[in-house]
Amino acid sequence: MSNTNIRIAVQKSGRLSDDSLKLFKECGIKFESGGSKLRSISSNFPIEFLFLRDDDIPGYVEDGVADLGVIGLNVLEENRKDVEIVKELGFSKCRLSLAIPRNEVYTDLSYFEGKNIATSYPNLTNTFLTSQGVTAHTHEISGSVEIAPSIGLAEGICDIVSTGGTLLSNGLKEVAEVFKSQAVLISNKSLTAEKRSILDKLTFRIDSVQRGQNAKYVVLNAEEKNLDKIMALLPGMKSPSRVPLAEKGWYSLHSVISENDFWEIIESLREAGAQGILVLPIEKMIL
Ligand code: ATP
Ligand code: MG
Repeated sequence: MSNTNIRIAVQKSGRLSDDSLKLFKECGIKFESGGSKLRSISSNFPIEFLFLRDDDIPGYVEDGVADLGVIGLNVLEENRKDVEIVKELGFSKCRLSLAIPRNEVYTDLSYFEGKNIATSYPNLTNTFLTSQGVTAHTHEISGSVEIAPSIGLAEGICDIVSTGGTLLSNGLKEVAEVFKSQAVLISNKSLTAEKRSILDKLTFRIDSVQRGQNAKYVVLNAEEKNLDKIMALLPGMKSPSRVPLAEKGWYSLHSVISENDFWEIIESLREAGAQGILVLPIEKMIL
């Protein structure tokens, strides 16, 4: 057996780390993390983890120092590194938004024409404003962007927002969304065939974990006269399973439903006569 490992760069500590580690653990990959550890080799999957500052990850993947990386789309697009986006990971969701002092009157994006905007994301900010026909001056700063207007550095800012709490406490209001972000898995563009096949195994596992997170397993009881109506509401992976109960004329139905339309389906099932509905989480879903 070959002893090639695929090397993946993940954030050492920050808003991407916990969910990244959780995802790989849910994929059944065992490895040590935490503390001052900067690298770790899995004991049961051909992968080596590098724990780094997130800013360095796209460059390392482009250069091939790491084969794979987990990074916020915002950082990736800002740095414009030449890597492949393998898949969206659905966590660390946030948005890059323009904000101005709360007492300013805002009408539309023309507000920013000729103004100074402080940001850690000059490329994303300029690309957006240019696409909207607005010319502004970006002023790149690496942190504490929210204080820029109050110290006279800029009239507005463009920064990462998730709840808006930080903006509010700095006397700012969000006025326009520039970019939507989430964590993505990236890969070097020229992986060897051997590493590509390890990546395929990894993405197969990630897909199974993600499918499970987006679905629920539903078990319910139904009387024979309501079966057709209820079965029509349950898509299932193939079709719902139907098991006769000890009580004559009653069945137990088992099915998988999507998290997205979960409540609507449950309500319709009750209206159609379903009883004793159990909803269970799915750990993994293999197609
Ligand atoms: P590092 O020390 O590794 O450079 P950092 O301070 O640059 O870390 P974090 O604040 O940990 O970065 O954010 C990492 C990424 O997480 C961001 O680039 C963004 O994609 C995402 N992110 C940022 N803020 C939030 C938030 N409030 N909620 C969810 N995701 C966020
Ligand atoms: Mg960083």
